[in-house]
Amino acid sequence: MTEPHHPKTAAIIVAAGRGTRAGGEIPKQWQQLRGRQVASYTIERFLDHPRIDQVVLVMHPDDIAAGMTPDIQPHAIFSGGATRKASVLAGLEGVAQDVDRVLIHDAARPLVSKDIIDRVLDALEAYQGAAPAVAVTDTLWHGQDNLVTGLQDRAGLYRAQTPQGFHLTPLLAAHRASADDATDDVAVARAAGLDVAIVAGDEDNIKITTPGDFARAEKLMDHHMDIRCGNGYDVHRFGPGDHVWLCGVQIPHTRGLKGHSDADVGMHAVTDAIYGALGMGDIGQHFPPSDPQWKGAASHIFLEHAVALASEHGFAISNADCTLVCEYPKIGPHQPAMKAALAYIMGLDANRISVKATTSERLGFTGREEGIAAIATVTLVKS
Ligand code: MG
Repeated sequence: MTEPHHPKTAAIIVAAGRGTRAGGEIPKQWQQLRGRQVASYTIERFLDHPRIDQVVLVMHPDDIAAGMTPDIQPHAIFSGGATRKASVLAGLEGVAQDVDRVLIHDAARPLVSKDIIDRVLDALEAYQGAAPAVAVTDTLWHGQDNLVTGLQDRAGLYRAQTPQGFHLTPLLAAHRASADDATDDVAVARAAGLDVAIVAGDEDNIKITTPGDFARAEKLMDHHMDIRCGNGYDVHRFGPGDHVWLCGVQIPHTRGLKGHSDADVGMHAVTDAIYGALGMGDIGQHFPPSDPQWKGAASHIFLEHAVALASEHGFAISNADCTLVCEYPKIGPHQPAMKAALAYIMGLDANRISVKATTSERLGFTGREEGIAAIATVTLVKS
């Protein structure tokens, strides 16, 4: 069976504008929104989309010369031209050889959703061009010198958004043939006789233009916050020894815990909760017990790996809650040290970590003091 042809799609993110209306010392796409560059959110939205094969960023030559770099790396960066059209052309000419379709998007629209991208891509199955837009619902006036001078019929009027999608070959030909002052790719395409379909845009897909738009974008981000929760459960059996490791703290005891690593059952549960929230397996998958290099390993290696993996995927750990289930050793006196140890490894404030303990009323394997169990919950937040 041959696979159906999957069109190769590149996103061209245009970040070459000077953005003077937004205020600030640097262009708006490089200003901070929630502690990250506006452009970094935009780049990430396209990198995360499963139907986008290449993400290309077009920067202003002055920004490149000033050493500006995006926090999140696209697949390629090109130097733009003096006009928006020249910048788009630099992107169109720079995409990978096997690209069939392109999406052209403003770097200053960091809230673009997966659904809008999908709608544009779906429409490209039937049209050579497609772009999102929102129908105008406000009453439109003509005005002069602060006086209303007339009404504008809003029927058939749309507010254009990006990403605007096109089949690459006809758009590239249209761009090469068009005048240098074209500010809109849909206009360029239509001038060359290409049909451009309108797909549903989204009121939240705002373009950051004025200083007030930063606060508006932050509010919308709160609304769209990506929150993940994961759980972890682990058990280790008692064996000979004179101490146990629990949540990063060594506690003297009449026995030890058996395990391939240092058998820190609490830290293992927390680690698995992070992997669980990410949907990325468990400790056993990342650190196979069959691999001798993890024999006797300190468990902070596992936890550090899970924390780094979360951060690589844009998630911050919001909080972790771990419950140890055992009759002995008594956990209470060690709780502050355990919270501090976990907080240190996870790079968090200790008030975001909870370590609790319970007995199981002498019931079951923990009640018979055959071993210790731990359960943990972790919350991850992506903004
Ligand atoms: Mg374990």
